[in-house]
Amino acid sequence: MTFRLISILFFLSLGITSAYAGNVWSAVRYPLTGPPQVIGSYAAGCIAGAVALPLVGEGYQVMRVSRNRYYGHPQLTRFVERLGQWTAAQGSRLLIGDLGQPRGGPAPTGHRSHQSGLDVDVWFLQQPRDQVLSRTDVERIDMPSMVRMTEGTLSPRWSPHYRDALKQAALSPEVDRIFVNAIIKRALCESETDRRWLNKVRPWWGHDAHFHVRLACPPDSAQCMSQKPVPPGDGCAPDLANWVRDIMRAARSPKPYRKPEPPSADRLPTACSLVLESPTAQR
Ligand SMILES: [Zn+2]
Repeated sequence: MTFRLISILFFLSLGITSAYAGNVWSAVRYPLTGPPQVIGSYAAGCIAGAVALPLVGEGYQVMRVSRNRYYGHPQLTRFVERLGQWTAAQGSRLLIGDLGQPRGGPAPTGHRSHQSGLDVDVWFLQQPRDQVLSRTDVERIDMPSMVRMTEGTLSPRWSPHYRDALKQAALSPEVDRIFVNAIIKRALCESETDRRWLNKVRPWWGHDAHFHVRLACPPDSAQCMSQKPVPPGDGCAPDLANWVRDIMRAARSPKPYRKPEPPSADRLPTACSLVLESPTAQR
């Protein structure tokens, strides 16, 4: 079989899988044009007027392009572009994971959130500034873990550059919070002298190969539902120790430690059905 034929079959099988999952949101290929408007919450929401993040920009490159999840509120795409420019100035290039689908909504795989155009995954792994990956590598390259889960420590792969990018993201005023693996958060708690920026860095499961940046509701979106604000303080104690203990215990257990999360069962706001069904001019 030729490579071409194999790839066609591969993409056909992807189509069958998502049709089977019955996810109408992932079938919509284009944003709804018009002014940006976030509706609902991060885990049950949608977006009108989303824009596509250019796939390659100064200091960043979008990964897994075939998933078509590189859309977001213009504030989100500007955030990524700015973080990229900053990273380029440090001599590196960020690898960008999922933003959201063209009109947001639940995705058939991967996340509960990322529904309202305000979430973006940033790989810890970085490339040299001038290295742009091929279309094949963008789909194939592994997203390596930065922790030794069973030992509760950072992996030798960890680099101060990754900490720098995380800190730069946390210092951006439009960022509401950032999710990282609790082991990474604890390592930062131990190494940072100024821990104020750690307030926005929240411990979670997974997130050992990427960090997940979540923007606050933008002022243009009256129907955007905010999350409870993060509690004050650096979040380094005492709950964090429990997080790390649970993660290490789960990693040492022979049983799979965590079932994949089912898609959010929260109902989308009714305004989202309009966003889903409105026709839009195809580009
Ligand atoms: Zn994420």
